[in-house]
Amino acid sequence: MGLTDIKERIAKAEREAGRPEGSVTLIAVSKVQPNERVRAVLEAGHRVYGENKVQEAAGKWPDFREAFDGVSVHLIGPLQSNKTRQAVQLFDAIHSVDRPKIAKAIARVAQEEGQCPDIFIQVNTGEEDQKAGVLPGETDGFVAECRALDLPVKGLMCIPPVDETPSLHFALLAKLAARNDLAGLSMGMSADFEEAIALGATHVRVGSAIFGERDYG
Ligand SMILES: *Cc1c(COP(=O)(O)O)cnc(C)c1O
Repeated sequence: MGLTDIKERIAKAEREAGRPEGSVTLIAVSKVQPNERVRAVLEAGHRVYGENKVQEAAGKWPDFREAFDGVSVHLIGPLQSNKTRQAVQLFDAIHSVDRPKIAKAIARVAQEEGQCPDIFIQVNTGEEDQKAGVLPGETDGFVAECRALDLPVKGLMCIPPVDETPSLHFALLAKLAARNDLAGLSMGMSADFEEAIALGATHVRVGSAIFGERDYG
């Protein structure tokens, strides 16, 4: 448990996969965690964080950014179009772009604001009804649509179904990214980030293994 341990495990997974050290970005998922825990990880020197709600991020990150240099915050949860401007202002990357309406909204607001977060397209690799993301078969078309809007598309993101072997989903995401010339792969969480790194993850999203369990009470 803890930041040091996770960083060591990432470095080991990079070596075992024959990948350069530092090729994987650790996104410390700070959603729901008490501010003291987040501050401790900031004080330990970590600078890349993930949040899944715009409102929650808006409540804590402006202050943390003032207190700590070089912070970057990634939105890893769903984005509603009425929160687009706030999201473009708050986040360095958005991992959950999954429909034309939101892609167009981001492109329009980014132009007005003169800045655009890095874009990851979420793919519903398990084709689950309740899950966000474009279907694997729609991915090529949607990547092209986002590129036509001049969005800085960096990669693909997935959240595998809880009851399936994650590796199959990571491999599928890697295949979809490769055939679209996308270098970024946002995949792997506390339980499976090493497998994700073995299959090419460039961004792993690790929450509870760094901060401890989330208390939703
Ligand atoms: C919460 C969350 C994570 C982190 O999950 P852990 O199991 O705590 O590592 C990763 N990705 C997304 C999209 C999340 O919402």
